[in-house]
Amino acid sequence: MTILVTGGAGYIGSHTCIELVKAGYDIVVADDFANSCMEAVRRTRKLAGVEFPFEKIDLTDYDATQKLFDKYQIDAVIHFAGLKAVGESGKIPLTYYHNNLDSTLSLLEAMKSHSVKNFIFSSSATVYGPEAPVPYNEATPVSRITSSPYGNTKLMIEYILKDEVKANPGFNAVLLRYFNPVGAHESGEIGENPNGIPNNLMPYVAQVAVGKLDMIHIFGNDYDTPDGTCLRDYIHVVDLAKGHVAALKKIKENCGLFVCNLGTGKGTSVLEMVKAFSKSCGKDLPYEFAPRREGDLPAFWADPAFAKEQLGWVAEKGIQEMCDDVWRWQSKNPAGFPQD
Ligand code: NAD
Ligand code: UDP
Repeated sequence: MTILVTGGAGYIGSHTCIELVKAGYDIVVADDFANSCMEAVRRTRKLAGVEFPFEKIDLTDYDATQKLFDKYQIDAVIHFAGLKAVGESGKIPLTYYHNNLDSTLSLLEAMKSHSVKNFIFSSSATVYGPEAPVPYNEATPVSRITSSPYGNTKLMIEYILKDEVKANPGFNAVLLRYFNPVGAHESGEIGENPNGIPNNLMPYVAQVAVGKLDMIHIFGNDYDTPDGTCLRDYIHVVDLAKGHVAALKKIKENCGLFVCNLGTGKGTSVLEMVKAFSKSCGKDLPYEFAPRREGDLPAFWADPAFAKEQLGWVAEKGIQEMCDDVWRWQSKNPAGFPQD
């Protein structure tokens, strides 16, 4: 079975390529390097032990996407490609709507004309919206709108896929709602490689640890949580990658529409995360409390029961392993991937 991995040069995609190869799948990777680079592909090939085909292509280009499907016999698509910076999406919403929606539509068109019926989509816990009860459960209806244009693209693509399943018998769409992916491959050879100053907690903390940034700013310590800082469900990227392999089994059962959380079911506070990372890097990391960040929810985590029941998948790695692996990646590659 050959899987097209879009965005396979990126953070989650690269780790998933390795797990797919391990599980015996053939893969083809397509990416335009909007947020990644060839060195990530080279290292992923090496870790996977396979020189899998790579195509540099912008998936919003409908003709190029059709040609990709002409060239390879694809059985299923795992669609990671997309722009993902929440803050940036508020500043350039049209770019986000154009990139994320058009790349998905272009793939679906090419799949239709090549009779490919299996699609796995990288969705996000953000689709539950601010009113959903915690822990987030798949039976909870999605929000009408999310807190960012980025989140809205996830919501809209979920609707597009739901409609396509209704209209196209035999079409399978798996919507995987990720919680907070962190961690890196245990080799320290690949990991998250953000452009500029990171917005997310883990890469920010890692850059303080390596001396690129001075101080961690913890956004809010007056939330109604045990230590006053926000709780999130951090999930190791390798566990997340394995969740995609498990989801392929569901597709083989001809699932139609299948929606599933990928999280651990445990909330961890910002302070706990900083302390765990301090242990990994062997020094107390400097932090200060700062005002709350607009749009942040106090606490959410996944109900992981459905994933266990339906996919037989459970996240196995804990917070300390996540921090150890990020530290290995960051300390081996303080400047991220070398530029080509
Ligand atoms: P990433 O930016 O590392 O990877 C995305 C990849 O897609 C990049 O390599 C980028 O170059 C590529 N890309 C973007 N637009 C493209 C286009 N038009 N054509 C071809 N390639 C394109 O991000 P990631 O963290 O690996 O996230 C993967 C997916 O998971 C994204 O869809 C993201 O929205 C989703 N997701 C991520 C998180 C997270 O916290 N990392 C959480 C929930 C959902
Ligand atoms: N956070 C923080 N300082 C930072 C970045 C993030 O205190 O420099 C907090 C943020 O307020 C949230 C948690 O860390 O409570 C996780 O934020 P992140 O952006 O990583 O993920 P989100 O859940 O917002 O998608």
